[in-house]
Amino acid sequence: MTKVWTVNPQQVEAADSELQEAARLIREGKRVAFPTETVYGLGADARNAEAIAGIFTAKGRPADNPLIVHLAHRSQISDLTDRLDETSCRLMDAFWPGPLTLVLPAKPGAVAASVTAGLPTVAVRVPDHPVALRLIEAAGCPVAAPSANRSGRPSPTRAAHVLADLDGRIDGIVDGGPTGVGVESTVVEVVDGVVHVLRPGGVSAEQLRRVASRVLVRGELSAARSGSGDSAQQSASEWQAEEEAPPKSPGMKYTHYAPQGRLTVVSGEAADRISAWISGELRRAKEKGERTGVLTFDEHRTLYSSKADVIVSVGSIHSPESMARHLYDSLRSFDEEKVTVIFAEAIEEQGIGLAVMNRLLKAAGNRVMFV
Ligand code: AMP
Ligand code: MG
Repeated sequence: MTKVWTVNPQQVEAADSELQEAARLIREGKRVAFPTETVYGLGADARNAEAIAGIFTAKGRPADNPLIVHLAHRSQISDLTDRLDETSCRLMDAFWPGPLTLVLPAKPGAVAASVTAGLPTVAVRVPDHPVALRLIEAAGCPVAAPSANRSGRPSPTRAAHVLADLDGRIDGIVDGGPTGVGVESTVVEVVDGVVHVLRPGGVSAEQLRRVASRVLVRGELSAARSGSGDSAQQSASEWQAEEEAPPKSPGMKYTHYAPQGRLTVVSGEAADRISAWISGELRRAKEKGERTGVLTFDEHRTLYSSKADVIVSVGSIHSPESMARHLYDSLRSFDEEKVTVIFAEAIEEQGIGLAVMNRLLKAAGNRVMFV
């Protein structure tokens, strides 16, 4: 049985008994999903190996994909690491609480070995959500929390998404309404003062550059165009720094966020060429009896009227924030409509748009068409 507690994030004080009960379950080694400002997380006591094993089982997550540890207060970081470099500290000052995860040298034994997938490092963040902070504080332990979806599925931005994937497989869900940012945290590792972006996310490269002088990040579309995929050797050549290979983030090699239909991302300079190409493909797919879908923007919706069975907009083309917020919900809605073939317009890799393109390309298994 999965218990659901409904909590108004604006009035967490009023939900003290619900959050205490959820926190008690975490302390007892159970698994509880909760909202963060990025997506819903599936939380368990990071020190409890059995509880963590339960997370991997519930999600069907590969054991070599480590988990992010969530703290209520920055001061708790000394429980997890005893080596903090100056750049990491500056990043924490600037972005915590918030959607930035830092990969740091792990204190041996601080968390269960399965949390770090046996790596000598641990990924940590302090989320910026009143429900998450209150729950973690009440649990009184570091809380490992990957996204609360079945592995490979789009991450959950609403409690209903969590239930759709994990009802009966986890002990509870704190329903705090829809999440804000909509894509996961940015994962970074600082090596010799250089900030390596291992996974783009809620904090953009532009924001990081305001705080750290050297930030290395890979362009998603350029990597896809050169066919580098996720192979470490090839992707290294795509990095803007020539000399050093990027540190690795084990989870980035997996196909993620995928809807059930076959998704293709379409990129190009001219909007009319993109819509013309997609329209041709939609016609061909329909002739083959496919149920078709398009992922587009408010401004482009009418270009596909009567051409696709399902047209979903992620918001205005001028608002990458809105695209991030609606991306996973949109991908899930194609499944609800039983769409079998989907075309998605690429967006600019500016700001949070880089994270959106990263997730979209993964959802498409890197299937991208340049027109
Ligand atoms: P998720 O929990 O689904 O948001 O995924 C967590 C992400 O953080 C994955 O891409 C992991 O590979 C990455 N991650 C977690 N711990 C580490 C670590 N110690 N070193 C590098 N990447 C990590
Ligand atoms: Mg995830």
